[in-house]
Amino acid sequence: MVKKDYYEVLGVSKNASSEDIKRAYRKLAIKYHPDKNPDNKKKAEEKFKESAEAYEVLSKPEKRQRYDKFGHEGLKGSSSESGMNMEDIFANFGDIFADAFGEGFSSFGFGKSTGHSRTIKGSDLRIRVKLTLEEVYRGIEKKVKVKRLKMAKGVRFKNCISCNGTGHITRITNTILGKMQTTSQCNICHGTGKRIENSPFGANKYGLIKEEELVNIKIPAGLSEGMQLKVSGKGNEAPYTYNGFPGDLIVLIEEIPHSKLKREGCNLHYDLYISFPDAILGSLKEVPTISGKARIKIDAGTQSGKTLRLKNKGLPNIEGYGYGSILVHINLWTPKKINEEQRKFFEKMRRNENFLPHPGNSEKSFFDRVREMFS
Ligand SMILES: [Zn+2]
Repeated sequence: MVKKDYYEVLGVSKNASSEDIKRAYRKLAIKYHPDKNPDNKKKAEEKFKESAEAYEVLSKPEKRQRYDKFGHEGLKGSSSESGMNMEDIFANFGDIFADAFGEGFSSFGFGKSTGHSRTIKGSDLRIRVKLTLEEVYRGIEKKVKVKRLKMAKGVRFKNCISCNGTGHITRITNTILGKMQTTSQCNICHGTGKRIENSPFGANKYGLIKEEELVNIKIPAGLSEGMQLKVSGKGNEAPYTYNGFPGDLIVLIEEIPHSKLKREGCNLHYDLYISFPDAILGSLKEVPTISGKARIKIDAGTQSGKTLRLKNKGLPNIEGYGYGSILVHINLWTPKKINEEQRKFFEKMRRNENFLPHPGNSEKSFFDRVREMFS
């Protein structure tokens, strides 16, 4: 079977705008809708599908371009080639019919129907909470003052007269397809079915008033800067609480930097400065941790730049398994001034074979150590 030219099917010119194409298709779809042609159902359905197929191609710039260049050949292998069934057409183009008859159109059984009065969610509120690393480490419960819009005391509601409290309005309209029932949201009460009868002083037109409330926020351990928590139901209350529910409180986490420890995920970095004698002879040193102090052993002959790891002394993993490490970076402290005796000592050591650097395999380069740490 030779396929008809899509532009001919829709009765538009080759340079028709997308608006022209939509309009032409809508007209044909209504004309050939099978329900509208009970005497000639089969023929009408054929035409109905044919115009849907043409519209499917010409309404999509990429497909239209291909069709313009190569004709029907250009669409081989695509979904357009095999044509469309009725369900596809309603599923894909239902909004076009809805456009034609207004929202809530449901005569063909595919429109959006609003059976119940609408519930409304209040708006979300946002606050920032600053955490110290100690708080990140342990997790914490914080009481935070939040100004929420709440239903003022003494607000009275009445049923919306225009929709009888149902929130929607049903109309029977005479259209070219015959009698049609359309349901739409009530504009007077915005689908809630309620109106405010009495609003106390200070409340807005929705009966809401700003009130300060202490909200308890449970902050789990291991959070980091930029993360968000949601406290359900602690945002603003809905304009018509009768049907609505409150929005959420969104908590944005900020981090207060630690004076000594630098955070990197679950790990903490600490720069430890040790003296020449400590590096040569070995020593025990104290390192700050989140919860206090830890002792760390410096082996005799420790090189400057070495990184020691204090396992499980870092921050808890947010998923709840384990702790990170404190990575202690060893720096050798070089005195700027020395006395005559020390100068003589080091002059002598300068020529000593034992003080000459001879980095071997055991003294890994800085880059090797970094690679090791991340592998
Ligand atoms: Zn109403």
